[in-house]
Amino acid sequence: MDGTKILTLGLGLEAPWILKEQHLDTAVSPHRLNLTVEAERGSLYPCPECGDACPAHDFADKTWRHLNFFQHHCYLHARVPRTKCPTHGIKRIEVPWARPGSDFTLLFEQAAMALVREMPVLAAARLIEITDKRLWRIVHHYVGCMLDQLDLSQVKAVGLDETAAKRGHRYVTVFLDMQRKSEPVVFAIPGRGKATVKAFSEFLAAHQGDPQAVQEVVCDMSPAFLKGVEEHLPKAEVTVDWFHIVQIFTRALDDVRKRERREQEPPKHLRWAVLRNADAGNLTANQIAALQELMADQSATADAWIIKEKLRWIQQAPTLRGARWRITRFLNFAREAIAGKGLLSPMNKALNTLERHTDRVIRRWLSGLTNARLEGMNSLFQAARSRARGYRNESTFITMIYLIGSPVGSMLDQAKST
Ligand SMILES: [Zn+2]
Repeated sequence: MDGTKILTLGLGLEAPWILKEQHLDTAVSPHRLNLTVEAERGSLYPCPECGDACPAHDFADKTWRHLNFFQHHCYLHARVPRTKCPTHGIKRIEVPWARPGSDFTLLFEQAAMALVREMPVLAAARLIEITDKRLWRIVHHYVGCMLDQLDLSQVKAVGLDETAAKRGHRYVTVFLDMQRKSEPVVFAIPGRGKATVKAFSEFLAAHQGDPQAVQEVVCDMSPAFLKGVEEHLPKAEVTVDWFHIVQIFTRALDDVRKRERREQEPPKHLRWAVLRNADAGNLTANQIAALQELMADQSATADAWIIKEKLRWIQQAPTLRGARWRITRFLNFAREAIAGKGLLSPMNKALNTLERHTDRVIRRWLSGLTNARLEGMNSLFQAARSRARGYRNESTFITMIYLIGSPVGSMLDQAKST
């Protein structure tokens, strides 16, 4: 097999296209391998509309960046005809090695996509030696294509959560199919609250799904989300995620700690000790000492911590009825413990939230959907942030969430192998 044949195979050329010429340009750095592809004079080409073989009307010179040939950049050149179809008139044809409008061959783009699934876009751009801006354009394109093909006809239970694209601002809301074992993300959108649920419901309907078929929603207690679910996923029962309950109490505990600190100097290792779970078994000796000191003091932080730790007792309830009973007991106990103690008022707010949402909280004993998946989202968000490092706006962040956390990644693999 000669070199031309090898290159032809590598390019995936098919009739009428053949590799006419190859030339290594050593006058530039890095060196360039220029491949010229041509069709035989007088060839017929398929009309892009109807596929009928038509003669060429005229030609335009086009160039595509192809996979590096060893260390040399490789460019593909071709004269691309416009066909003259009796029915459809004059049309530019599509070439088999590149998608319309792209300056890269399909093989180049596939290699680029394989890299961005494994590493940050900036690093991938350096490796294949194109600008990051152009690489992002490729990534957005392929992720968008796969998303268009996403089939959501089976979605019946949805989890939703929000996260900041950038620290402190610009929120993104992510929707999960709670019944998918892996790659659960099915929708992500800038913003938070009611409008995002409306957008999800429309996206679902546009992808063979049915908003009326969604029976379960797992989310936090934000009134805007709850209102959105009521309006746009009308058949769904809401389950409040246990993870969010713990989060609310952890924040309240932290508020108590801060208030108390303003009044007195707390033990040194207190912050981390109180924020960790006491039974996680990973407290340092200093932290245990700090906790003991705290309990002996009968400080407000200690009281708040004990309340927060009691949540575990609710979580371990074996049945729905048991859980309801434990919540009532817990609320009574906690309210008694904080009565008349001004420093503990943040706990009061958390208790009220729990009481208001008791029915939604105990649904988790009914629905069988665990919240482990929502909790696991944090590591996905973390990974997406690091992959999109340097360009953290909502659209790059969302594209990365799709690429890592949704079925888009495996859809790309399948598209490649066919
Ligand atoms: Zn035609």
